[in-house]
Amino acid sequence: MAAKPATDPAYSVELYKLKDGHHEFTFAVDDSFLQAMNPEGTEAFATQGNVQVQLALEKTQQFIDARFSVTGTLQVACDRCLQDYTQIITGTERVLYSYNPDMATTDDQDVVFISRDLQWLDLRQEMYDFIGLQVPLRKIPEGCPGSMCPPEVLKYINTTESERTNLPSADPRWSQLKELN
Ligand SMILES: [Zn+2]
Repeated sequence: MAAKPATDPAYSVELYKLKDGHHEFTFAVDDSFLQAMNPEGTEAFATQGNVQVQLALEKTQQFIDARFSVTGTLQVACDRCLQDYTQIITGTERVLYSYNPDMATTDDQDVVFISRDLQWLDLRQEMYDFIGLQVPLRKIPEGCPGSMCPPEVLKYINTTESERTNLPSADPRWSQLKELN
């Protein structure tokens, strides 16, 4: 896969134009962003979705305090029946971009050191990571198991424990389901 361009203006902040003070930006994340940010061969948390990232910046001479608010939906696979469903995500994350390499940091604070010469602050990786962080650990929508599930999987889910060991294992989905139980 080709390397990502150094900066994508659509997902960056023009630092050299930014005066000290408060600034707000809104970025729209869609399928093409999610797919571009996920190199082939790695497991993506989602390749389809519509997410808005609102960014509030406080810029000073020493640092830029960045708060990311993430809201939207992602298409994710149900942990139980593997059917895709629409997961609502929402959350906030914070990063301090510091111009001062000697600044003291704490474990509970995300600090990224940047150069005073940096003209564009590219936020693609932050946005992608922060969207991923809002995906619940247990992805099972309301109504599962139910009519939304693939019939063959529904049948499996409804099968009693003792019968499960006799199911064919050729379909990789079966073994995934077994691991969940
Ligand atoms: Zn399900």
